Amino acid sequence: MLEPGVIPDKEPIIRVAVVMPEDNFKKIVINTPSVGGYRISDEDGNVFELGYDERYEFHLHGDLLKFVSNKGEKVSKKWIVTGEDANNVGTKRGIKVKNVITGRNFHWRKLMDMYIPGTLEFHNLNGKLFVVNEVPLEVYLVCVATSEMGAKCPKSFLEAQTVVARSWLLANVEMKHRSLGVDVCNDDCCQRYQGATFLTKEAIEAASNTYGKVLMYGDKICDARYSKSCGGVTERIENVWGGEPLPYSISKLDAPASYNHPSYPLDSEDKVRKWIDDKPPTFCSSYYIPEKELIKYLGGVDVEGRYFRWIVNYTQQQLNSLLKSKLNLKSRYILDLVPLRRGDSGRIIDLRIDYVDLRGEKQSMIIKSEYKIRDTLSKKFLYSSAFYVKKEPEGDVPREFILKGAGWGHGVGLCQIGALGMSLKGYTVEDILYHYYVGAELKKIY
Ligand SMILES: [Zn+2]
Ligand SMILES: [Zn+2]
Repeated sequence: MLEPGVIPDKEPIIRVAVVMPEDNFKKIVINTPSVGGYRISDEDGNVFELGYDERYEFHLHGDLLKFVSNKGEKVSKKWIVTGEDANNVGTKRGIKVKNVITGRNFHWRKLMDMYIPGTLEFHNLNGKLFVVNEVPLEVYLVCVATSEMGAKCPKSFLEAQTVVARSWLLANVEMKHRSLGVDVCNDDCCQRYQGATFLTKEAIEAASNTYGKVLMYGDKICDARYSKSCGGVTERIENVWGGEPLPYSISKLDAPASYNHPSYPLDSEDKVRKWIDDKPPTFCSSYYIPEKELIKYLGGVDVEGRYFRWIVNYTQQQLNSLLKSKLNLKSRYILDLVPLRRGDSGRIIDLRIDYVDLRGEKQSMIIKSEYKIRDTLSKKFLYSSAFYVKKEPEGDVPREFILKGAGWGHGVGLCQIGALGMSLKGYTVEDILYHYYVGAELKKIY
């Protein structure tokens, strides 16, 4: 595992959760590859050879884990599968793990078969199945680069994405799953990791061209966040996660320095509305990449969507039942959704919900945080909190609420579609990184 606050001087091995206890899996199925000489060991260190191209299962079994092969069954608290050197990276190399969750808690949640390089540990953790992958950091990064975005992306984009993923991981600020003894999970909650499933030679090159390189600000590795589409203006880190501002993680137009827009900065409701109604030619707009082209660059699991500008409609009844289920709101009608505070990108940080309660009295409730707002206003997850609300009709009890929005994700740091737009227009990896992380420096630490 990574050590907080320590800058490594050689490539670290990291631990990635592939199946989380919260997934509530009762069993998991793996397939060994046709190369590599894989072995499995139990908690006492007994080692058994595994066959080639063979199927094995792990089942929860009381407080143990049952390993099932065509030769029979064995039980142990944990199992460790090792084989081929993880550094032999290649498409679909490694153990095939069937039905892994991707998009956990997101609107595009799916089960996928993944090819995982490195070592796999299978645990029974307090009655829950828990699977951890130990993998060299650079191999993990190759996998992240292709899992996050499709492999058809230009070189400067893939390199920028790899440097950002490496920096974020080594800055190690979030450490969301430290209590489980892993550095990251396999999903968007941390960084999307689908093993070597979609690996390409371009991603392998991007990792080796940037081997050991991170973004630094002063003597610290940058906490380099990124999201799918900023919507045209990036967001300040403290507006999404709270805490102190960071000098390199500010808000700016996602456009060439010479570009300006009459609504920018977005410091009034009126300007935000005009900005969202417009389609300004920022790096993440269709001016740089037509939306129908996007699908060819985006990773395999994303829905074809409206990333830059979007509309979500709710009838009175739909919104009311949504808020009842999400907030346990005792409401007869919803009257309005009122932004109280917005970040610099137009993302709403505090939102007031006005409603009529069951006794017929006007009430309101305030939801705080970009994340909570997106979670509340969609059955799954709203694209972003940069939106305004149009009511039909304006007045007492609207029949319909139209959410008009911009961007996909929190908008902090690198905008992936914007970075893709820049790379398609010939910007270099340094141009891209220094555009999104102002004042940062690219340095090689190992
Ligand atoms: Zn996570
Ligand atoms: Zn952008």
